[in-house]
Amino acid sequence: MDIFKLPKEHIVLRFTLLLIVIAYLFSLSMRYIWVAEFQGMEQFKYNNELMINTNDGYYFAEGARDILAGSHQPNDLSPINEPISLLTAWLSQIVPVNFETLILYMPSIFGSLIVIPIILIGRTLGQTGIGFIAALLASVTHSYYNRTMTGYYDTDMLTIVLPLFAIYAIILAITHQRNRFLLPITLAFALTQWWYPQSYSLNTAILVTTLLYALIFERCNHHFYKISLFIIIGILSLPMWIKIAIALAIFAFFHYKTALDQKWFWGLFIAIISLYFFTGGIDPIWGQLKGYVFRDSVSDDAGLHFYNVAQTVREAGNIPFTIFAERISGHPITFVLGLLGYVAAILAYRPLLITLPLIGLGFIAMSAGLRFTIYAVAPMAIGFAYMLMLITRPIEKGWLRVIVLVVFSGVALYPNYLHIREYMTPTVFTAKEVSVLEKFGTLSNTEDYVITWWDYGYPIRYYSDVKTLVDGGKHSGDINYPASYILVQPQQNSALIARLAVEYTEKGYENNKSAIIAEMLTAYKADTVDDLILNLQLSNAVLSKSTRDIYLYLPLRMMDILPTVTLFSYLDLKNPDNKLQQPFFYTTQQFQDSGKSVELGNGLSIIKEKNMIKLGREEVPIKSFYQVGYNQEQKIDINEQHFASEGLNIIFMASYGRFLIVDDFYLNSSYIQMFVFEQYDPKLFEPVILDPLSKVYKLKV
Ligand code: MG
Repeated sequence: MDIFKLPKEHIVLRFTLLLIVIAYLFSLSMRYIWVAEFQGMEQFKYNNELMINTNDGYYFAEGARDILAGSHQPNDLSPINEPISLLTAWLSQIVPVNFETLILYMPSIFGSLIVIPIILIGRTLGQTGIGFIAALLASVTHSYYNRTMTGYYDTDMLTIVLPLFAIYAIILAITHQRNRFLLPITLAFALTQWWYPQSYSLNTAILVTTLLYALIFERCNHHFYKISLFIIIGILSLPMWIKIAIALAIFAFFHYKTALDQKWFWGLFIAIISLYFFTGGIDPIWGQLKGYVFRDSVSDDAGLHFYNVAQTVREAGNIPFTIFAERISGHPITFVLGLLGYVAAILAYRPLLITLPLIGLGFIAMSAGLRFTIYAVAPMAIGFAYMLMLITRPIEKGWLRVIVLVVFSGVALYPNYLHIREYMTPTVFTAKEVSVLEKFGTLSNTEDYVITWWDYGYPIRYYSDVKTLVDGGKHSGDINYPASYILVQPQQNSALIARLAVEYTEKGYENNKSAIIAEMLTAYKADTVDDLILNLQLSNAVLSKSTRDIYLYLPLRMMDILPTVTLFSYLDLKNPDNKLQQPFFYTTQQFQDSGKSVELGNGLSIIKEKNMIKLGREEVPIKSFYQVGYNQEQKIDINEQHFASEGLNIIFMASYGRFLIVDDFYLNSSYIQMFVFEQYDPKLFEPVILDPLSKVYKLKV
């Protein structure tokens, strides 16, 4: 059988199904490489299962857990209405595996579905072989793999699959021009929109492309306007059941009234378009564009200027071509062939024009950040597969051509395989850290707050079921300010702000005010946060009524990001132009003791006989030296020596093999005092869990 020359009617369904199964299993097996590598490592397991490797996944897992439990706490930010949490909770009731196994494998199982619409698009165009090769490639290409690998439990598992089904539905309707192919269009778009509301812009772009297609090439073909109509219905900002009801009603009308009155149709068309502008319109699209392309830079809240989070996001900016190409096609050569093939494929199969918005969005990555490359993966894979077909067309012997295709496809897949072998993302937390969180969960109440850096917000809420001030989705400059302040200020300041921040955050949910720092300043008649602390101490005023317990979670893994944490509160809130000199912090686990000096890397060294620290060309006196370690009873032992009244402090964390060089600001910070030295003010804090990797203290004010 020559699969290349058969017209589409002759390609038997069974053959297509077989190709889908093969491609799907291929995608799954590639996603098993990570599992096989980590399977034996107990430090990555929880409940006898590997843990997930994306921070955001814990957010959705929290939602699913709470849906299954049937309850959650008000204002605990648990996403009980998120589609992915709903799907997970529903699956967990019908699939007989433990919850951790379910969320671990869902990304592989759903993400691999990408092969189906790609193969079906190929089949619709009479090129199932192209669809098959494209499906293999798309399923493992860097950016698609990275965001649908095993353990990457996030909405990405369907954010590409669903729009591809929608595009398949449109291509199918264009090719067959029958009314019965209209309904799947609305259904696919409605599902896409439900799963990932941010896809609104992409969906609108697909609609505009379809309309332009109609106006340019098929102006008199009424069917194209019907297709457009059913796309609009699918993307309306209305509940899914209403959209499906509208689509069914209109479909029934088309079906029973064969000779359609043009006036009537256009009336309907205008009505639905008006509904689009009335319900969602293009405002959300502008919002997204502004956020990604024209970044707003100032965050200003009631006259206070906070640190702008976008400043720490390094994803955006100019991306080297090689990385861009690898993320989309696996290799620059594959990318170039894919691009040429894509243009050629559109010339040969005009309905493929509908995939243009995916290419457009993917190429936006050049200016808006790597996260967008994932959109271009599928159409570029189709382009590459088409190119292979073109190149091998002169080969007359069918079997020889198949061999050549297999070899070329293998060569294109290989760099992606290598990437998968190398891309061994660790789990978010280790088993030891999770056991601390689990234990902490049993000691705390679900209404209690844990204060820590936002990176640990979601996992803590999942494992300990408590509340947090900041998390992976709630970390703008003003919200990060108190968290940062509490971690890096001396204990007295930390304790006062911790209590206020939690009480004002809870109050803020009730009266809808999120500017809690401004609220506090007004309430305590202070001009700055320093004044506020002073006023609180002077008046000995009773702090805002305590409604719950508050804990500080101090993990070792925060050590390396401490300077970043500090950035968010070590600033002049009133005057954004007053750029403060940041306090001094350096840490390393790579050092060499040469007898006379200890080399710490980056031009830093300790000159022992002079009691000096060399910073590049400068020499600074050592103020004090601390050696901290665990003794035989697993208690902290501290040896300290003082050398000068000014200078930098050295802390050698013997049990961790780690040096810290810090100024007095960091030495006195709550994090260093309570995590490194376990020195806490017993009037303010009491230890709850003191584990070498993570320490938890309870606030006593
Ligand atoms: Mg909760």
